[in-house]
Amino acid sequence: MSTIEKPIQAETNGAAETRAIAVENPATGTTIANVPDMGSGEVVAMIARARRAQLAWDALGFEGRARVMYAARHWLVENRDRMLRTIVEETGKTREDAIVGDWSFVVDSLGFWAKRAPKYLRDEHIRPHSPFLLGKRIVVRHRPIGVVGVIGPWNFPLNLCFGDAIAALMAGNAVVLKPSEITPLANMLMAEGMKAAGLPEDVMQVATGRGETGAALVDGADMIMFTGSTATGKKIMAQAAETLTPVSLELGGKDPMIVLRDADVERAANAAVSYSMSNGGQICTSVERVYVEEPVYDEFVRRVVDNVRSLRQGVPGEPGAVDIGAVTFGPQAEIVEGHVKDAVEKGAKVLVGGERGEGPGRFFQPTVMVDVDHTMKAMTEETFGPTLPIMRVRDVDEAVKLANDSNFGLNSSVWTKDVDKGEQVARRIEAGSSCVNDGLVNYLAQEAPFGGLKDSGVGGRHGVSGIRKYCTAQTILVTRFAPKRELHFFPYSARTTKVLERGFALLYGRKRSN
Ligand code: NDP
Repeated sequence: MSTIEKPIQAETNGAAETRAIAVENPATGTTIANVPDMGSGEVVAMIARARRAQLAWDALGFEGRARVMYAARHWLVENRDRMLRTIVEETGKTREDAIVGDWSFVVDSLGFWAKRAPKYLRDEHIRPHSPFLLGKRIVVRHRPIGVVGVIGPWNFPLNLCFGDAIAALMAGNAVVLKPSEITPLANMLMAEGMKAAGLPEDVMQVATGRGETGAALVDGADMIMFTGSTATGKKIMAQAAETLTPVSLELGGKDPMIVLRDADVERAANAAVSYSMSNGGQICTSVERVYVEEPVYDEFVRRVVDNVRSLRQGVPGEPGAVDIGAVTFGPQAEIVEGHVKDAVEKGAKVLVGGERGEGPGRFFQPTVMVDVDHTMKAMTEETFGPTLPIMRVRDVDEAVKLANDSNFGLNSSVWTKDVDKGEQVARRIEAGSSCVNDGLVNYLAQEAPFGGLKDSGVGGRHGVSGIRKYCTAQTILVTRFAPKRELHFFPYSARTTKVLERGFALLYGRKRSN
């Protein structure tokens, strides 16, 4: 039975609503809800309400805000079945993918930011180095930026939309979420959860709609946290430049996996399959291409193929029912199919899969390809599907060169039993993150910054910088013990000029070797 039995209507606080968006379960092809397609007027009104609500929310302080986050965590655990069903239905992913990639991460994140925000944002006392500032007190304060707009994609609807609001809220901001039009329901349900947890009205609102709704948010918000495609990220950055609105962009990836000749091939092959195909391969940090050193290539391919052949794909149901669910977004299925076709036309061999799965839902078979190279889209453009192209390489240098031959630079991995060597190779990869003998799980280290290079993004999430981006730094200088006149005050005189000049010459005039 569907969790969502009647069309959901988002609260618009009285704004007239004429258009609606039908939300589909991609695994069954049925419509599960209708949500309002909000226009820019409604977004502007939401931002105005958020701006008013933000002041009292900020005044509540870290402790008061943390109480709401812990209550929200409790609510999310208590209501997990509802939330998991909602995510599974609107994305077509398995319950396991919803647990690992969305629900458990957000549950963890609520407590993480509740606890860390006061530490990451506490006032910093600075000891100034300049001789002009002797005896003065300097404090840097991180204050909320105001109204944060969070625009999210469809692959992890809860994690990559509401998940990014948690740090923003803990910093004292109000938030307007704009989930993907394909998957708005998890965020709407979470808004209900936040209300139940005691979040004051209008501190977090959900603007359902399409790209134009997101564009209105970019115009009105004080900061934009965006996760999505590189193409949309570029548009948002250009639009935000008009109002000098800061942006943090988490964009696409084409993550390489390098398997060295001394790797534990069994673990590497198992990981390659899981990390390329979990969530149906619809993860920005999925393994999207593999480079394997000659001596272990055949064994690696054999193990991968055996493993992929055993995967079960279908409509997600009870726990453990299937391994791989649906392709969430229609046009993505065409991209995945196009990449496989393009590779085959250029000489690649499909060892498993390679076709769309059977309907009525939207599926693409788990696919393994070999004899691939960098003339093929499957090796250079983001596929975002359950495909694994594997390329044989001569040595580690060739592997690193090919790994770096990409417009993207999000995540990456190196596999070897020699972990020191692995770390050295990882340091040569042009990516925001690298793992040795692992993949994906680095995302769970919320203490460490996570972001992309090149076309994979600007800024990042997690760690100290992952919350300070939602703040403006205000530096306050306090002069406590002050003479009537400082040396640099008017009027200038020959005597004070000489004192200043000589003083600096004495301080900085000595020769240093380093
Ligand atoms: P899109 O870029 O198509 O959309 C992302 C969000 O932006 C959606 O909510 C979309 O609304 C909205 N949007 C579209 N146009 C505009 C606009 N002009 N102004 C403001 N907002 C707009 O990405 P997808 O949803 O297709 O997500 C998949 C992509 O996300 C992949 O490329 C993937 O790599 C990337 N991604 C990156 C991650 C990272 O952390 N680096 C993590 C996960 C995914 P609507 O859907 O209604 O059109």
